[in-house]
Amino acid sequence: MIFRQEIRVTPIRGELKRFFVDSERPGQHPYLVDLDSYDGNGECACDNFRIRLVSKVQTEARKPKNQRWPMRCKHIKWAREYLLDKLLAALRSPAHTAKFNREN
Ligand SMILES: [Zn+2]
Repeated sequence: MIFRQEIRVTPIRGELKRFFVDSERPGQHPYLVDLDSYDGNGECACDNFRIRLVSKVQTEARKPKNQRWPMRCKHIKWAREYLLDKLLAALRSPAHTAKFNREN
C-alpha cells in the first residue's frame, strides 16, 4: 500500500503484526513496526518513538488499561491503517479470509 505516494507499508511474511514502514526521508531504511508491543500500543524503530514516545508509553502503562493514551508515531499509525484495510477486506468474504490466512 502506498501512502502520500512514497510511503509504503510492507508486511513481513508469516507475521501478522509486524511491518516495515518507509521513512519519509529519502535514502533512509524502512522502520520495523511491531503493532503488538507495549500491550498493543505498538513500537517503532524511528527516532521519534525511541527518543520521545517510549518513555511516555511506559508512563501510560502504569495507568489502568482503559485510561491509557496511545503513544504512536506516524509509522505505527500507517501500519495500523494498513492492517485494518486488510482485515476489513478479509471480513468481506469467506474466500478472501482463506486467502488472507494462507498469505500471512
Ligand atoms: Zn515511527
